This record gives sequence, structure tokens and C-alpha cells, in this order.
Amino acid sequence: MIEHLDIFLDLYVFATQYDVPQLKRDIFTVLVEMDTIDYQFNDTYPTVDVSRLYRMLDGNSPFCKYVAKSHALAWEATENDRDKIMQFPPAYLADLLIFKEQRATVGDNAFEEDVWNHCAYHQHKSYLQELRCKESRSSDVPFLTNFLKAIIAEAELEAERDAGYDEELDVNEEPNVDEEPDADKEPNVDEEPIMDEE
Ligand SMILES: [Zn+2]
Repeated sequence: MIEHLDIFLDLYVFATQYDVPQLKRDIFTVLVEMDTIDYQFNDTYPTVDVSRLYRMLDGNSPFCKYVAKSHALAWEATENDRDKIMQFPPAYLADLLIFKEQRATVGDNAFEEDVWNHCAYHQHKSYLQELRCKESRSSDVPFLTNFLKAIIAEAELEAERDAGYDEELDVNEEPNVDEEPDADKEPNVDEEPIMDEE
């Protein structure tokens, strides 16, 4: 199972490198839409490898902000998360802290509304553009959702094909029965047990 966030990240990186602002906007329109539907409070956040995210994108990128923001919304840190938290890049940790603080200040409902505001990540050039975006959303979303879902389905098929190909290779690999037993693999029973030095 591929996490859709991973696929959106790859697409977003592509759109950033080739400077396709419309694709970047469309990705967020669909991503936020999908996450709003799937959303639930749980401890599986973030559902993307944050270190990979920060290697691929600038920390100020809307994508990084979105991951940190939705993480701040969905996740309540506990003592058990200490190791996980220490793996986060410092820039991510800083954003997470700031967004947690924002959530505490404005309250859960207002913060959630802000997290799911597509236009916050669209990088519109003007307020007018943002208004037009909001107006056209109802007609755009179904089309874009189907389009990007098709891409995800294709990527999952590809991954399954790759996995199947690996299994096939394993099956075809004949065990070599004539091979001499590997002396190195024999347990060495004569070996002295290693004692801890006092
Ligand atoms: Zn917008």
C-alpha cells in the first residue's frame, strides 16, 4: 500500500522543478479534499517520511507547512513518541511546535478550518485570484480528484507489479543442491565463549 502523500510529494517536487504552478495548486486541491475525508485523530502522523520531505523540498514550501499543520491537528504527542520526535528535522519540529501553539491559541475548530483551507497552500498572487479559485472549486474538485486518483491507482499497480516481479525472481532461483556446504556458515562449536573482561 502506497501512502497517497508520498505520491503527491513526488508530483509536487516535479511541479516545483518544472515550475508548473497550476499542477501545484491542483495537487493541494485534491490532497486536502482527500485528507479531509480520511481524517481522524491518530498517532500514525505524519504519513510521509519527514526526512525525505525535507531533503526534497525547502522547509518553507507549502507542502512542508501542510504536513506539519495537519500533523499538529491530528496528533497528541506522548512520552512514547520521544524517539520518533528526535528523528524529525529541526525545521519540521519548529513548525510543529508553532502550529501546536496556534491550535492552542485559536482553538481546535478554528485551527482545523485553517488546516483544510486549500487556498492557504495555493500561493495565489492576489486575493481576487483566491476568490476565483474558491468559486471554481466545486466544479474542479470532482474532475481533479478522479484524475489524481487514477495516477495513484496506476502507481499502486506499478508497485504491485514490481513486488510480483521480485517474487517471480525468487521462485525461479533454483536452489543449488550440488554446492558444497559453506564451511563459514557452520556453527563453530569449538569456539571459546567470549567472556566479559573484568
Ligand atoms: Zn486557491
